[in-house]
Amino acid sequence: MTGDYACGRCIQALSHGIRAQGHPAWSRVLSKRRSNFSAIYNSSPRHNSRLLLKNAQSSIQRLSFSSTANVSHKARSFSQSTVSGQQAQPDESRVLLKRDNLFHPFSKSPSPAIRKRAAFIQQNAFCPHPSHQQTRLPANHDPESTQSQQTPTNPPAHAHFECPDCGVPLYCSEEHWVDDFERHLEVCETIRQINEDDHDLHSGRFFPEFTYPGPQDDNFVINMTNWDTFLYTREFEAINDDRSMRQVTRMLTYPLTIGSVLHELSPYSLRKDRLTVEGLKSISALRYTLHPPKTGEGVDIKGLRLKAPPVRIFVLGARAESSLPRDVWLQLTHMFPRAIFNIIFIGPESMANRDSEFPLPERTPGNPFGGIVEDRLGPSMKITTYVDYFHTMYKAQYFQPFDPYFDCFMLFHPGLGHPASSHEWEETLPQLLETKVPILCTGYTQWDMERDIKWVNEKCAGEFDMLLEPGENIFRSLRWDLNDLDPQDVSCGNWGLWGFRGKRYEALPTDS
Ligand SMILES: [Zn+2]
Ligand SMILES: [Zn+2]
Repeated sequence: MTGDYACGRCIQALSHGIRAQGHPAWSRVLSKRRSNFSAIYNSSPRHNSRLLLKNAQSSIQRLSFSSTANVSHKARSFSQSTVSGQQAQPDESRVLLKRDNLFHPFSKSPSPAIRKRAAFIQQNAFCPHPSHQQTRLPANHDPESTQSQQTPTNPPAHAHFECPDCGVPLYCSEEHWVDDFERHLEVCETIRQINEDDHDLHSGRFFPEFTYPGPQDDNFVINMTNWDTFLYTREFEAINDDRSMRQVTRMLTYPLTIGSVLHELSPYSLRKDRLTVEGLKSISALRYTLHPPKTGEGVDIKGLRLKAPPVRIFVLGARAESSLPRDVWLQLTHMFPRAIFNIIFIGPESMANRDSEFPLPERTPGNPFGGIVEDRLGPSMKITTYVDYFHTMYKAQYFQPFDPYFDCFMLFHPGLGHPASSHEWEETLPQLLETKVPILCTGYTQWDMERDIKWVNEKCAGEFDMLLEPGENIFRSLRWDLNDLDPQDVSCGNWGLWGFRGKRYEALPTDS
């Protein structure tokens, strides 16, 4: 439809995704933007550039959000307050940091947001030295692996001493840091990388990696062997820098984790020992809907065709993922150009970091759970958000019937087996199994994922089939994150991936 109102060059540009080089106006905007970021923001009347800048900035804000809120199952509610504080920061507070000047101790950071974070860590994290009594269980790693022979005698102490090599407050004193140095060395380099990546987000540079390509030409097939082949075949602006790669994969891991399992060119297959026979059955049903044959449809009345109903992806226990820029979620529709999606975020924290959308709609007979509907994201995607528990809505038969050809559940680091959150899932799990719809699940680390699997096994042994054998997610975030309540606890978004489904019993004819 837009084709009728755009010039030939623009159509060309649109069909390849909006490329910088496509139109003289675009290249003008881009070259100006590269040369002077702040000048164009203040003075340029061009709508396009402002829009792009706004998108990039919202990406950054959201990224900095997830850095505090996405890390731990426990940390969630705590970090809310620091998050809103960060958001209120005006843009002038950002200092332009150069690529070779990204490392700063958190407490002396040029960015006020990071200094605030340092203060939060110092107030809430405890020294991990074995001589202290443990106050809380680590969220994402095995507590037994860090236990030593020493009997804890000292009371817990807050982390006030910053390691000079990674710049994050970790120990109560220099002596404890020296004493425990060998163990800290295992994560020190990764934490330093996190430090630099966080400063990069606040550096004020322009982020070309957050410009996402539009629809894909039918003639080009995507290759999902790994991140590199995917980004290349999806015509992302060349991302040659490891740091840019880490920043962008941290966002794209959410749609890609779903897409990489459901797509017919999925890297998970029977041959590679990840997908099981039961998995193939379930995924094939969904692929039938997601890859319909071409029907010769067009933009005019003659080209109208009946379309299959949307594929519903239920994202349960949604947190940071529900506030990702919509461009990121739209990448899913570009992977399946002939399918329609309805993404449904459900969970008490699904409106975190979406302050501009408050107040929530009233609960009416027509919208009994107060869902927030975003249906103008393009012809093939709708996003609905419910601030409620899935088990409440399930009991009210709100989404029934479920259909294995049209529905899929996605649980991003649900913490099924985490002592602080497993009680919230207890009622949901049997309901999910009852639907016989595939359930995809991710974990922050191998240990986190295995704890979830163990819990499902304890609760519902023999009631489910494994669809996807647990293992590392090919499309995990390449960026590592800190848990602000336990900075030694390093994890990454969607590190592990597995899938299961309620067992289906075949009806066998009885011998007479
Ligand atoms: Zn200590
Ligand atoms: Zn260190």
